[in-house]
Amino acid sequence: MPESSLSITLIEPKADAKVSVAAPAPKNAMQKLLEKLGLKRDIDLALHLPLRYEDETRITRLRDAREGDMIQIEGEVVESEVVYKPRRQLLVKLDDGSDVCTLRFFNFYPNQQKALSVGNRIRARGEVRGGFLGWTMLHPHCKPAGGDLPTALTPVYPTMAGMPQAYLRKAVLSGLARAELSDTFAPGDLSQINPHALWTLRQALQFLHHPTPDVSLDTLMDHSHPAWQRLKAEELLAQQLSQLQSRRARAELRAPPLQGKVGDTLHARLLAALPFALTGAQQRVGFEIAKDMARNVPMHRLLQGDVGAGKTVVAALAATICMDAGWQCALMAPTEILAEQHFRKLVSWLEPLGITTAWLIGSQKTKARREALAMIESGEAKLVVGTHAVIQDKVRFQNLALAIIDEQHRFGVAQRLALRSKASVGPGHGDDKAHPFEPHLLMMTATPIPRTLAMSYYADLDVSTLDELPPGRTPIVTKVVNEARRGEVVQRIRAQVAEGRQVYWVCPLIEESEALDLTNATETHAELSHALQQAAGPGAAPVQVGLLHSRMPTDEKKAVMADFVAGKTAVLVSTTVIEVGVDVPNASLMVVEHAERFGLSQLHQLRGRVGRGAAASACVLLYSTGDAPRLGEAARERLRAMAETNDGFEIARRDLEIRGPGEFLGARQSGDAMLRFADLATDAALLEWARQEAPMMLDRYPHLAEKHVQRWLGTKAEFLKA
Ligand code: ADP
Ligand code: MG
Repeated sequence: MPESSLSITLIEPKADAKVSVAAPAPKNAMQKLLEKLGLKRDIDLALHLPLRYEDETRITRLRDAREGDMIQIEGEVVESEVVYKPRRQLLVKLDDGSDVCTLRFFNFYPNQQKALSVGNRIRARGEVRGGFLGWTMLHPHCKPAGGDLPTALTPVYPTMAGMPQAYLRKAVLSGLARAELSDTFAPGDLSQINPHALWTLRQALQFLHHPTPDVSLDTLMDHSHPAWQRLKAEELLAQQLSQLQSRRARAELRAPPLQGKVGDTLHARLLAALPFALTGAQQRVGFEIAKDMARNVPMHRLLQGDVGAGKTVVAALAATICMDAGWQCALMAPTEILAEQHFRKLVSWLEPLGITTAWLIGSQKTKARREALAMIESGEAKLVVGTHAVIQDKVRFQNLALAIIDEQHRFGVAQRLALRSKASVGPGHGDDKAHPFEPHLLMMTATPIPRTLAMSYYADLDVSTLDELPPGRTPIVTKVVNEARRGEVVQRIRAQVAEGRQVYWVCPLIEESEALDLTNATETHAELSHALQQAAGPGAAPVQVGLLHSRMPTDEKKAVMADFVAGKTAVLVSTTVIEVGVDVPNASLMVVEHAERFGLSQLHQLRGRVGRGAAASACVLLYSTGDAPRLGEAARERLRAMAETNDGFEIARRDLEIRGPGEFLGARQSGDAMLRFADLATDAALLEWARQEAPMMLDRYPHLAEKHVQRWLGTKAEFLKA
């Protein structure tokens, strides 16, 4: 039943009455929107599965309705009037013979009002509420009564502004009809996991797009239905195959073997010069990395370790091995502030050993950049540190052999690819001209993925884990505090400052509005400066409070950061949650405002900014419930996890539990979410199946394997291999 023929269903039920109704975009614009949704091929459309379903297969009598049900009713309009209290609205009373329901519209067109005039018979679909006025529905979808009822549930697809469901439904339907859906593996292959999962791909897709009304909606929503099992197995297999393909392809590539040397090497001298001994974990991962680099196949390793675990020194030691072998090394960080910290640290370690380090960032003066580029090209600079600027076209390395990416999840796949391409050094360097060298790649992240998950999921990545913090750290005490007790928190800040300690105050980014974000931070800054002064009493020396927000020019940001690092400011108010990785050991208190708005791993990252010195450190998570009586379940779980543990891996595990792995991994892939359907927490058995199946399929049925990967990943396949 084509919904486009309906004249009275134009308005989506939106709580906000100010929303204007956008006309659907013209046809070629629709095509563009489909592409934006990633729906280019027939198979993409066929794999675009419903978010949920609506049951339009039956009419419910109001007498049988339950509060909050999404139902369809049919009856006669017995009253229809526009009232102005409290604001302009259309109230329509619909009598279905068993009871009466008031339909309420805040937005309506004259023709809708006409369609809803007294005496007309109407079918209305919406969420029914009981209450003082009897049954009501807010902005129900309405159409003339009568007409066929569909026999399958109506799918509701993920969409975007300007793309109406009706259009998307038709597009998906025709994509599904045209797509080539022959099986790449037999339904029976899955029977060991689930004896009921004997569905072909075609059956599964047809069912999931148009399930019969007798299905248990729960099994569709939690993806446990056998049709879902088939799709999840398909998806996991595609993911494993593509990673396996890229692992095999990588094995064909060549990288300069960077063998560790004995004697008076940079590596030995840096180790000797460090003011601390390496932890056992640092030694172990250092060994894993060195072993990879010694091979003539490019390393592809993820170094994961909690904030403060000491990844930088591991990276620096890897760099010295590379330089000892006579090759260049590059280190890239996602922000200028972070890159600069690395630069300073590495220079302080390596300059005394005679190493020249080049510095490359986007906002650099032309002259400085030209000099840096020249040093990199001539090989005078053995080490290059910077931001994305490191992978720009103009940058030519003399002989790059090791690329290190810090906070790798903040970089896109394209950037990782670009960095790799920097390495193909010219002829004369390789032992084989057909095989230009690729650099070894070391990626670092402080948002750990539980180890088992990482190992099985990233079939194309070797994982090293720093699971031990350097000694001498006092654990951070975390307190969850209601916003109402802000005054006490200010006192506490005052006390810390009086002891010569420093404090971070983090305001949440307000995503909808950068301007609001700024006002908010500016106000907090003023308010805090004032309150600290009051708390100190008259005549006390003023407490210097710095302000850092995302819209400041880089120079200003740097100056503010430098003042804080130097201890000139005691308190730093910041919205710039992006500056993870800053290292100010004297900071011993972190206050996070509206902590309930932050993600769990984000909170953990923030907390990692304190507790870097020997002093006892604390983290105060201020929360506000707003108008609600209490915090939502997920927010409470996040804050509880923060209060209960300091362990990044435990945090990651809880995060996984609270959010579900699809989102969990997705967030870490900076936009290129890899799993749409499977859920690694609940689908471990399917993942294991896919892991075993993938190598066999690749060996025995390479064409089927390729077809499978193309079908599922299409043009993304290349990308995922980065
Ligand atoms: P992250 O893993 O978060 O990048 P860093 O590399 O910034 O951590 O290290 C955090 C701090 O710990 C730095 O000040 C660093 O010098 C120090 N550090 C690293 N390794 C050790 C160690 N083995 N013993 C003592 N301090 C260490
Ligand atoms: Mg770091």
